[in-house]
Amino acid sequence: MSGRVDKTYSMEESQRGQGDREDQRSLGNGKHARSQSPLKFFAEAKKSINDVFKDIAEYVKESHAFLSALPEECQCDKAKSVEEFGNMIQGIIEVLTRNHMKVVFFGRTSNGKSTTINAMLRNKIMPSGIGHTTHCFIQVEGCDSSDGFLLTEDSDQQKSISDIKQLASALSKVKLKENSLIRILWPKQKCKFLREDVVFLDSPGIDVTPDLDDWIDKHCLDADVFVLVANAESTLMQTEKNFFHKVSNRLSKPNIFILQNRWDISVGEDDPEEVEQVKEQHYQRNVEFLADQLKVVDRQEAKNRIFFVSAKETLISRLHEDNKTPTPHGSLQRNYQERAFAFANFETAFEICISKSAVKTKFEKHSQRGRNITSSLKSIMEETYQKCQLQGEKLQDVKGEKASELDFLEKQTLILTTEMKDKIKAMVEEVERKVAYAMNVEINRLSVLVEDFDRPFHPDEMVLRVYKKELHAYVEDGIKINLTGRCTAQLVRAVQTVEMHMRDRLSALLPEETKQNLDSMLPKNQFEIAYRLDCRNLCADFQEDIQFRFSFGITALMERFLGPKGVHTVLTGKGNTIPRPIPGQAQDNQILVGVITTFASVSSRTTMGALIIGGMVAKVTGWRIIAVVGALYGVLYLYERMTWTNKAKERSFKRQYVDYVASKLKLIVDLTSANCSHQVQQELTSTFARLCNQVDISKQGLENEITELDKEITKRREISLKGKTLRNKADYLDKTLDGFIKKFLGQKDS
Ligand code: GDP
Repeated sequence: MSGRVDKTYSMEESQRGQGDREDQRSLGNGKHARSQSPLKFFAEAKKSINDVFKDIAEYVKESHAFLSALPEECQCDKAKSVEEFGNMIQGIIEVLTRNHMKVVFFGRTSNGKSTTINAMLRNKIMPSGIGHTTHCFIQVEGCDSSDGFLLTEDSDQQKSISDIKQLASALSKVKLKENSLIRILWPKQKCKFLREDVVFLDSPGIDVTPDLDDWIDKHCLDADVFVLVANAESTLMQTEKNFFHKVSNRLSKPNIFILQNRWDISVGEDDPEEVEQVKEQHYQRNVEFLADQLKVVDRQEAKNRIFFVSAKETLISRLHEDNKTPTPHGSLQRNYQERAFAFANFETAFEICISKSAVKTKFEKHSQRGRNITSSLKSIMEETYQKCQLQGEKLQDVKGEKASELDFLEKQTLILTTEMKDKIKAMVEEVERKVAYAMNVEINRLSVLVEDFDRPFHPDEMVLRVYKKELHAYVEDGIKINLTGRCTAQLVRAVQTVEMHMRDRLSALLPEETKQNLDSMLPKNQFEIAYRLDCRNLCADFQEDIQFRFSFGITALMERFLGPKGVHTVLTGKGNTIPRPIPGQAQDNQILVGVITTFASVSSRTTMGALIIGGMVAKVTGWRIIAVVGALYGVLYLYERMTWTNKAKERSFKRQYVDYVASKLKLIVDLTSANCSHQVQQELTSTFARLCNQVDISKQGLENEITELDKEITKRREISLKGKTLRNKADYLDKTLDGFIKKFLGQKDS
């Protein structure tokens, strides 16, 4: 043994250290039954975090789809980051599925690094031997296939495991770079460490002047545990210490185990006390190195990181144990069990340490990032939910306003319709009154109108027919013109006033933007009243009487006293019947009619009778008087006969015509005025209906808006419900991650 004992180290400390170490020797050579490997902790954590992140990925996908479909007013500013979150989560999932526990073995050449790895793998996978010096990194990791194979950095081609010696050997002709990596993919089922995702990395001897910084950058930054395989025959060298100083500068508090290998050599020493002293000295120096110099653990913990083992013996023992063959004599030294326990203890401590550390290094950062993402998503969903809720409430308010607007419009339209009906009715009555009055005035003034008709008059029947025709037209036009002058302007103004009133009243009910539409609803052409008189038909039966009649003729005199009816009675002889007594004046007339009837009947029966009467009168008054009276009568007759010219006939005709037309027109006064009022009524009613149509359009518009608002409100409600669900889901994921952190990372407050 080349290790020298430091005599200053006290026995007490030595005993205490021994006691601590004894405590660790609870396990045999690694085959002892254990309830559950500490490595399961990592596997469980890995599964758990992978499951959570898969859920988060699903959630992010769902959220992204939900947020992208949101209406603009419900969009949240931070929503754009959801897509980024999706990419981040995918990246994390990829890293997480690739994640494993990594242990790196360092130490001087031939200290037994490869042998230690082989012992742990219970298989001679790594090339080892005195003559063999590994000049590159060799990583052993699990694979699912039943046979192992090699992979080098420069190609994807799988190589045979047997090539490892040639590839990794410093003596090989095929030279690989110092920091290059050879991967050994070894079947997982053959080794529990590989099964639980532990990756072993063997390094070239640290004493081969390596570029340590390059090593660390390339191979050590993701390492969970460093195992320094030291040679128990010598103390730690400065190169070994330098390496770990560099590592602890780059990684915060790296997990370092020191295996004092080749401890089987100590069996050959004669002085057991000195062996113990050497052991204690190694302890002290290693504890000092870990706790005081590197400061990666405290002194107490440092003692649990140092193990005195024999990798070679452990490997031999395990290989034979697995092959169920006895170990060759002399291959295991005295007190082998002690070193086997130490190796098993190292493995247990290593398992606990690496799984805890790996969970922390591999999952802590990701779980924190995951939590940041879930809490961001939670706040995005909360904001979205709130916005949708607010939007929904706003839309509800708008809908309420629109509904009351519609209600107001309906009620006001109803009130206005009643009011307008009354107004139209009043207007119609007014028109009827005015037109009737104007027509009566015109009937009274008919003679003036007829008088002004200046067509040449001729009593010839043919000429007279044309004359009458023209006169009918003239009278009709004249009355129409006069009625128009009298009423139309006034009535049209009144109608327009009512129409404007309608428009103004309805306009007050309509929204600003549709008000101007009302103007286009008003009639384009000015309303005009048509007076339908149709004098031609009305006066078709007019029969003039322009025969000469002597004013003092017997018939005329009878007419004068009896009226045309009395004359008719006398002339037709129907007056012989005993007249019905009529009181007063009527009675006198009856007597007179009786006398003259008798006289006329006598005179008409016989000229002889007339002569007799004339003789009787002449006898009483004398012939001279009779002659004078007869002469005067004859002169009078002649005069009247002379003056019965066309002019006189025209006057008579017109007089008769005026009387006739006036009587006929009087019959149609009510009809005409009713017709005019009907026109006005139609005009106003149709105008009001057109104006109301605009109100109907507005009402329809409001109803459509309300329907649309209802749809939007339902949509918002659904969105906000979904937002709420997603917020709760984000909260659930956040809590799940929090639970993961508490369970696997041991943090109380996250
Ligand atoms: P490495 O260069 O650090 O990988 O060292 P190796 O594992 O290749 O070992 C070098 C030599 O040391 C081999 O011949 C091993 O058999 C031998 N060796 C390894 N471990 C022990 C041990 O615990 N005891 C003894 N006696 N020899 C060992």
